[in-house]
Amino acid sequence: MSSDPCVEFLDASWRSATGGRVSYRSTDGPAGYVGPVNSIDLGKFESEMWSAVDELEQARHAMDEATRRLAEQRGRTSAAMQRYGGALAIEDRQVPQQVVRSLYWEHRDIRAQAIADAFALKGGGGRVHEYAGSEPFETPCAGGCGRPVRLVARTSNVPTCPECAARIEAERQAHFREVALHHQKEREEREEWARRQMLEGRTPEELYVEMTERWVTGGPLPWLKDLAAELETEERGANLF
Ligand SMILES: [Zn+2]
Repeated sequence: MSSDPCVEFLDASWRSATGGRVSYRSTDGPAGYVGPVNSIDLGKFESEMWSAVDELEQARHAMDEATRRLAEQRGRTSAAMQRYGGALAIEDRQVPQQVVRSLYWEHRDIRAQAIADAFALKGGGGRVHEYAGSEPFETPCAGGCGRPVRLVARTSNVPTCPECAARIEAERQAHFREVALHHQKEREEREEWARRQMLEGRTPEELYVEMTERWVTGGPLPWLKDLAAELETEERGANLF
């Protein structure tokens, strides 16, 4: 199951739009299988699928490239620290504590062992915090307000201050409300459109292609079929009187 809140939200919207009756996902196996879809251009759907696959591949390459650059830069940084450490040693000077403190607390991509090696700190990476000062380090709030927050561990993420945390939460809630309204409006529009088209005699299969172009959906065919059945029942009901 995805834990992406947007995906979950869309799934929930889709379930509510379809009354939870249908499941249209190829990964669902036989339960989600909806049978042959007639009169549509399969090539279009297939090529759309492959271009999404290509973009996925490109995103993966971009991530691998970024990981490689990070490793390279980590190596260059270690070399620069070693040159500085060597220069201090030649001058017979100690590395300033403030330097170790900043490298250790403010730059988590630098390994503690690299700091120990560069400045010949006794005890290796595991003792760097003693030179850096093990008091919690103050750093600017991750929310961007500029207030200082305390880093309690080198490996923890930079926290946000209470004010920023409240603001970010309010923005998140507002965004979700906006998305929910947007999807509700879209669902109503979609249903209204499909009803109108079917009342003019068009079949779910005919509407399928148009629907995937008008609305980005996970596959509206089962929903269209349910709607067609509903309209038929309404019509039969109306004919009784
Ligand atoms: Zn803040």
